Amino acid sequence: MLNSRLLWQIWGILGFTLVVSSLVFGILVSNQAEQDAVYRIEQSLLSQALELSQPMSRFLDGEETLDPERLSALTPGVTARITLIDSSGRVIADNKNDPADMDNHADRPEFVASSSSSYGVSTRFSDTLKRSMHYLAIQVSSANGRRGVLRLALPLTEIEQQMAVLRKRIALSTLFIGAVSLLIGYVLAFGVTRPITRMTTLASHIAKGEYHLRLPGDRSDEIGQLAAVINELALGAEERINEMTSNRNRLAAVLTALTEGVIALDLDQRVQHVNESALKMLGLKRENILNRKFMEVTVAREIKQAVQTSIEEETSGPCSVSFEGRTLDCTCQLIDGVTDQESRGAILVIEDETERRRLEQVRSDFVANASHELKTPISAIRGLIETIIDDPDMPQDVFQRFVERIRQQTIRLDNIVQDLLQLSRFDSSEREKAVTRIDLGGVLRQVYQSKTFEATDAGVEFELDLQESSLVIDGEAEALNQLVSNLVENAIKYTGKGGRVQLRLLKLGSMAHIEVEDNGIGISKDETQRIFERFYRVDRARSRDMGGTGLGLAIVKHIAQAHHGSVSVTSQLGQGSRFTVQIPLAEQIT
Ligand code: ADP
Repeated sequence: MLNSRLLWQIWGILGFTLVVSSLVFGILVSNQAEQDAVYRIEQSLLSQALELSQPMSRFLDGEETLDPERLSALTPGVTARITLIDSSGRVIADNKNDPADMDNHADRPEFVASSSSSYGVSTRFSDTLKRSMHYLAIQVSSANGRRGVLRLALPLTEIEQQMAVLRKRIALSTLFIGAVSLLIGYVLAFGVTRPITRMTTLASHIAKGEYHLRLPGDRSDEIGQLAAVINELALGAEERINEMTSNRNRLAAVLTALTEGVIALDLDQRVQHVNESALKMLGLKRENILNRKFMEVTVAREIKQAVQTSIEEETSGPCSVSFEGRTLDCTCQLIDGVTDQESRGAILVIEDETERRRLEQVRSDFVANASHELKTPISAIRGLIETIIDDPDMPQDVFQRFVERIRQQTIRLDNIVQDLLQLSRFDSSEREKAVTRIDLGGVLRQVYQSKTFEATDAGVEFELDLQESSLVIDGEAEALNQLVSNLVENAIKYTGKGGRVQLRLLKLGSMAHIEVEDNGIGISKDETQRIFERFYRVDRARSRDMGGTGLGLAIVKHIAQAHHGSVSVTSQLGQGSRFTVQIPLAEQIT
């Protein structure tokens, strides 16, 4: 507050005015008091002179003069100097000096003045007494009619002493009034400048973006009204800024959450905003792109071209780019700032089409494969039936063989359709509804029981090894049964007579491990990468002969993933394979 220039200015002017006023007042009072004092002294001299005029006038009639001793004896108690002068100016009596030693007084100002007025006064240096005196003279006349002047005088020092005391008092009073005035001035100036200082502080906080401060509403005068208006402005600004901030945050959150990459550019093609998705797709770091010219950023030439074209030609130009193994679709849209030039610019939206295109490819491959797989048995059935129709005299044994082959192809068709249905079922959202707590030990025991005969028929030794008799997961019993059955069936199929298949359940950390191990034909390293693809088979003819559809492992993978798990294989050609399915235990699923 003390460094407020306004306070010092107001206080300075106010204080100066008040101090000068009190000084002038003091001087005026002092002068007035001095005049009063002189007047009082004069009045006292005048009354003494009037009292003495009667007894003193008789000395005008005689020729003799009175020496100081006689005169003092005649006027006891009178401290003033008394001088009696005749009309010619000759001194007849004086109580301080011998009249014989005194010169003619006709020229004395008080003597001269007394003739024209009721009394005459003068303040001057006395040649007789050698000091400054205040004189008062009145006309007197004796009983015989002789005229003269009676003069009384007091030394000026006495008056000055009285005046000094008076001046001292007035000076002290002036000093006190001045100090009080300065204090009052400060309080007044402080009262005016404090709200202004507060308003200035509030305004500077608002300028810095701090809108929460308010001015006290303790005044009802104009300053109080101004404070209320400023408070309203600050509140309005705070609300608007809060709204803008929340809008901006919401927009930023939306942009961050978008899977599409979004880059906002100004008209100079400088990057104003970039979201995480865009950074990820373009393999850039925020600091390497923000506030830089888009043309200087290391991105595909086609993207830069699309941005440049849309800004220069004011069009939205889509483009498709292959960038670091990904397919990116870009659209650059011009933003037309309706109200201000600053908000003009362009928005570049980048979509990563890699996954969608891969899925499209997978889907079309799948349709082609499925059609092909279905076409093969259908063509075979059709051929067999046409042959039977064309040859009504076909021998019975040939006919029987044909019918048997039709039956086998129908079973194959049924197997393919069943597997396709399984796959589509795991693709659909219906799947979640059948989820319950499942004991994997129970599932493995069931599969073991149902596949034991199959194994025995194939001449394969089949063992169940439950290291954990009961492991609970959240899942679908039927699907898990299918998963284990597929793996066991494959193991039996691709092991053959004299082989051995082991079905195991163990717990590793928070995961349940289902292992199906065989010592069969095994799979080469290259093939292990692909066997989980739909319709993929290492030996197509062998698989087909064994009734395989090429969908068994694809179904296993789907079911494992649907249970938040995975499937993997370790295998060596001619040695055997071990398929491992990992599924999180029930408590661990989040
Ligand atoms: P398929 O119906 O042909 O068995 P799968 O999807 O179940 O189809 O298996 C894909 C391919 O993986 C099989 O054709 C086979 O070549 C190979 N395969 C699967 N399991 C085994 C295994 N235990 N031993 C060796 N090869 C296997």
